[in-house]
Amino acid sequence: MGGAAKTRIVLLGPPGAGKGTQAKRLASELGLPHLSSGDILRAEVGRQSPLGIRAQSYMDRGELVPDALIIEMIASRIEGAEGFILDGFPRTVAQAEALEGVASIDVVLNIMLERGEVIRRLTARRVCSDCGAIRNLASEGLDESASCPSCGGTLSQRDDDRQEVIEHRFDVYTEQTAPLVSFYRERRLLADIDGSRPSDEVHAAVLRELTQ
Ligand code: ADP
Ligand code: ZN
Repeated sequence: MGGAAKTRIVLLGPPGAGKGTQAKRLASELGLPHLSSGDILRAEVGRQSPLGIRAQSYMDRGELVPDALIIEMIASRIEGAEGFILDGFPRTVAQAEALEGVASIDVVLNIMLERGEVIRRLTARRVCSDCGAIRNLASEGLDESASCPSCGGTLSQRDDDRQEVIEHRFDVYTEQTAPLVSFYRERRLLADIDGSRPSDEVHAAVLRELTQ
């Protein structure tokens, strides 16, 4: 049947490494819930919930939202779950330690991408407001006014995908999230994936890690 042996999955890596793209594809192929902390937060901001209102200023500056808010938001969604794909959580050592108290993890996929490529990709990233697809103007040869190739919807740029904010997010990743690479390597959960390759090849590498 070829089902994945590992179903409690964490995606780690800098912004723009392709975590969201890979997570969505895996979630639909494996039938696992995709929990994107960024998507959940953006939805909270959209409806201006108390959490959304508190999170918004951090997100617009490219800073991390305080651990306590994030931990509660995610823990309530994974407690007792058989499987999940965590995308964007944990992002600090404190979050990783809290996660250990809530669920055990089968594998951490470390999708690696260097700074220059992160900046090139994110400045060209657009999101479809209708179907949620993540598109890249540069790699897909789309111009600024293009509409979504899958559904014809409107493509828009995330507020935090502006050059200065992108650079800051990368620095925040290096300082606060990169320490999780050794955290999970020590626990023998880490699998390194080269995120610079085409999306299909990254997906194939991810599947190999999940089934071995
Ligand atoms: P990216 O991975 O492309 O930077 P995300 O969509 O995962 O973007 O997150 C966008 C923003 O949401 C982050 O810059 C941060 O402000 C906030 N955020 C998301 N996940 C977390 C988290 N686990 N801890 C703290 N803040 C988070
Ligand atoms: Zn679309």
